[in-house]
Amino acid sequence: MSENSVMVYIQQNGGKAADVSLELVCKARELADRLGVTVSAALFGEKVAGEVSRVASLGADKVYIVEDARLKYYTPIPYSKLMIQTISEHKPQIVLYGATTEGRDLAPRVASNLKVGLTADCTDLQIGDHTQKEKEYKNILYQIRPAFGGNIIATIVSPEKKPQMATVREGVMRMMEPDKSRKAETVKISAKLDKNDFPSEIIDRVMEAKTVNLKGAQIIVSGGMGVGSKENFALVRELAHALGAEVGASRAAVDQGFIGKEHQVGQTGTTVRPKLYIACGISGAIQHRAGMDASARIIAINSDPEAPIFGIAHYGIVGDLNEVIPRMIKAYKARV
Ligand SMILES: Cc1cc2nc3c(=O)[nH]c(=O)nc-3n(C[C@H](O)[C@H](O)[C@H](O)COP(=O)(O)OP(=O)(O)OC[C@H]3O[C@@H](n4cnc5c(N)ncnc54)[C@H](O)[C@@H]3O)c2cc1C
Repeated sequence: MSENSVMVYIQQNGGKAADVSLELVCKARELADRLGVTVSAALFGEKVAGEVSRVASLGADKVYIVEDARLKYYTPIPYSKLMIQTISEHKPQIVLYGATTEGRDLAPRVASNLKVGLTADCTDLQIGDHTQKEKEYKNILYQIRPAFGGNIIATIVSPEKKPQMATVREGVMRMMEPDKSRKAETVKISAKLDKNDFPSEIIDRVMEAKTVNLKGAQIIVSGGMGVGSKENFALVRELAHALGAEVGASRAAVDQGFIGKEHQVGQTGTTVRPKLYIACGISGAIQHRAGMDASARIIAINSDPEAPIFGIAHYGIVGDLNEVIPRMIKAYKARV
């Protein structure tokens, strides 16, 4: 039953599964239904069994679990060994990882050990057929991601070897509503670990608190190069403040030092899906759109009527943001 599953590596912190892993379980469910196979999850840590029901509620049928105090924090050697063991024993056809620091460290180690392909930073995953050297491969994983500096969207396949593996960034796949009636079978992996697998010990970990929560924001007001300067970003912040919104930015604005990198939206920033996204002085390059085009409503303010951002905006305002934003703030304040 487990063979041929779509497997997700569940990244955990303090026994709590990372959002990106849960998003991937939802995507794995979709892919597995298309393939007619099961969804499995690999969950390692100190005390992680509490997360089995959450992973099940989002679509996993089976959870391979290892609980060991030495696995409290991620370290590459034991985690990659466990992942290689789990994949070798249960032979999933697809394995997905979050494109986090941890996933980016773990997945290549597993890929090189198993001598299988790995595509990093996918923005979409689909199932389809592929013909190569007159050989036809049915139902393989299309690993889709921007390539050549975002100028093309490439579909990458690795049909000859299983599992097909990919990493996906947080926020790219949609989180589904949990179905609490769903249950998963828990399978304990008898971990083949010895003391040589723990050459280093993490005594404590200090995490810097996030100051910007773009992913959780319902409204985002973002500024780009059109804002003109760090000082003028106050205008974007003022509109965000009036609307109770988070402040976002294009990469060009970040690179110019108008605002910190933690505000960047896009392919190499955060992927967002707010109810309302207001793009101020942002042209709408593909790398920016990749991180925000799934927003429920998009308002674009741009002085150039030909700016590509208007192609995806639900409402477009052609004008100078230095005039438009103060008028928006005034109009909004007059109504509340
Ligand atoms: C590998 C790679 C990854 C990338 N990742 C990202 C990413 O994650 N996020 C991202 O954003 N970009 C990313 N980029 C960069 C991207 O290609 C664009 O360069 C960038 O998004 C442009 O930012 P912008 O729209 O602010 O600037 P510009 O393209 O310079 O656009 C500025 C806009 O402001 C308008 N404007 C000017 N003055 C005013 C005014 N007074 N009032 C109103 N409008 C005005 C102009 O008409 C113009 O449309 C990436 C690029 C590469 C190669």
